[in-house]
Amino acid sequence: METPKAVSKHKHIVLTSHPGKSGQKPIPINWGESDPIKRGPIIGTVRNANHRNVIGTHSGSYAVYRALAIASGALQANHRADLTNTSPVVHIGPHPSWSDANKIVCLDPFGALVGGSYTTLYEQGHDIFPTIAITKAHINMPELQDSIIKGRLQVDGKILKNNGSLVVTKVAIDPVWYLPGIAQRLKINESDLRRILFQQTGGMFPELVTRPDLHVFLPPIGGTTVYLIGEVEAITNPSKLLAVRVHDECNGSDVFGSDICTCRPYLVHGIEVCIQTAQEGGAGVIVYFRKEGRALGEVTKFLVYNARKRQEGGDSAEAYFTRTECVAGLQDMRFQELMPDVLHWLGITRIDRLVSMSDLKYNAIISSGIEVIERIAIPDDWIPEDARVEIAAKQAAGYYTPGEVPDAVTLAEIKGRGLGD
Ligand SMILES: [Zn+2]
Repeated sequence: METPKAVSKHKHIVLTSHPGKSGQKPIPINWGESDPIKRGPIIGTVRNANHRNVIGTHSGSYAVYRALAIASGALQANHRADLTNTSPVVHIGPHPSWSDANKIVCLDPFGALVGGSYTTLYEQGHDIFPTIAITKAHINMPELQDSIIKGRLQVDGKILKNNGSLVVTKVAIDPVWYLPGIAQRLKINESDLRRILFQQTGGMFPELVTRPDLHVFLPPIGGTTVYLIGEVEAITNPSKLLAVRVHDECNGSDVFGSDICTCRPYLVHGIEVCIQTAQEGGAGVIVYFRKEGRALGEVTKFLVYNARKRQEGGDSAEAYFTRTECVAGLQDMRFQELMPDVLHWLGITRIDRLVSMSDLKYNAIISSGIEVIERIAIPDDWIPEDARVEIAAKQAAGYYTPGEVPDAVTLAEIKGRGLGD
């Protein structure tokens, strides 16, 4: 049997779970301050425990893979990121919303500006790592090629290239939670929120309950990606049109084209409206949240698919939500009230075309103070046959539809395909 290799010389563990231990005096974070220096950087490093001013570590759920890489000896525990040439390719903000502690509570508005604002602190040895990265890309989707052939989309050579490639600016955002703001958004007590986060992660982050001086949490969850189409300046220009789709991840449909739901058609339709709006001189924004299966996760989602299709009478629109509740205990855990933060980060105050039928998303957006001029539903012929169950159930539950809302009789009539078919 092989002898396990020694990973680190430092065998004893220093707990950071009590304030004042080891002379800890981290740089304070004053959430909502407009000056990034006064606001303070987010420091989630584990190289120097005394510098840490947040609970948790960087990179969301990928922190666990980093631990594996260090444990296996593939990565040095003291590796420090070389951030040469990594700065954003376009500038976003600062916007007035950045200094409103209530408008943005689940991301760091200064997350992309690490290099410029915090250079001195970085040079002094503080591990300040970006939580937002901004780059550019060309994307190519077969449906967009098809839309060009059908004449729904026009090649302009700038936004939509001759080969059908779409030019985008894309932004990756890791979650940064300001716990008092999250608690307020959910209308709960901060100490209750911290205690339940601690308990429900199996005690993963003791500082949630022992360090009331630390108010910022880097949760081990998936992040958000934003695709910007057209000129970034047009997003906040009141004389230009803005189209937005906020989309929650559905790997089965988005990537693999599964026909049980409408997710990829929704996404492509949103991109198409964004392209058209950008070509009219405006801009389009697609926000993609890693909230798989209404944030219930893919295992729960697939269990629900089986339960839906095996129930007596087969998969039906009238029992669509009930089956999810049986397995998960509730229909949805996405907490759309946290969703508009990214729109505020972009400086959005008005959406001319909201490409979404979700009443939860619409209500969250307008409640956060963003005006919505027009809601755009997916064209009926874009809906896969097996997804009729999903869309009818959602329309009956309050989803926006320009057509008729299905009644109980219609709902009972809409059936999905059987499991083995
Ligand atoms: Zn889906």
